[in-house]
Amino acid sequence: MTTDRKSSCRPPSRIGARWRDYASCRSTGSDLFFPDESRISLEDIVAAKTLCGECPVKNACLQYALETKQEHGIWGGTTEEERRRLRRAWLISRRRKAG
Ligand code: SF4
Repeated sequence: MTTDRKSSCRPPSRIGARWRDYASCRSTGSDLFFPDESRISLEDIVAAKTLCGECPVKNACLQYALETKQEHGIWGGTTEEERRRLRRAWLISRRRKAG
């Protein structure tokens, strides 16, 4: 499952929805976490990552993003590009653990 860039910051999910109750971004607008590519700025990325850095559910958020292949936006303090690299490593690790 992936989300559209313009969907809400934290869309409803069937997977572990409870962690969202504690998300630091619950009251922020989605533009910070799902910026328009034509207007994305380093300052916005830093602001979003700073909020993520203080978020009590950062790990759960990142895990969710990796498991559900969230390709757009900031999740768990990672950008799209960072998450692509993490996801590759995460998938390799999962395969090794599976046997
Ligand atoms: S880690 Fe960032 S994107 Fe994820 S719930 Fe927390 S503030 Fe929101």
